[in-house]
Amino acid sequence: MSRGPVVPATAVPIDKIRAGVHPLDGLGVEPARVLLAPEGTGTCGTCQLRARPHNPARRNHPKCSAGPRRVRTRRGHEEIWPRASLDASTNVRSWWPACSDYNPREDPTT
Ligand code: SF4
Repeated sequence: MSRGPVVPATAVPIDKIRAGVHPLDGLGVEPARVLLAPEGTGTCGTCQLRARPHNPARRNHPKCSAGPRRVRTRRGHEEIWPRASLDASTNVRSWWPACSDYNPREDPTT
């Protein structure tokens, strides 16, 4: 089975899209393959998994919350969003084409 094209994680989003992978491909705290959904599926802007993480100490830019995991920490538990990191490369733009985990919001105007 093909795993899709090899595109550097540092490639700019538009280059990744042209290469057939999602801009989040290879990024985040647990880098993984992120494939595009079929053309016309939607955009990250209408996906309910695009969310702002709760972090009162920082500006909260939208990130991808797909595949969340709870991990034990010294202070209790923490939720990990594998495709998110603190740097701007994982800030999810509303115009990005949907990935294969796209989950449409019920009301795309919200
Ligand atoms: S379309 Fe994919 S990458 Fe974009 S927010 Fe939804 S799950 Fe995340």
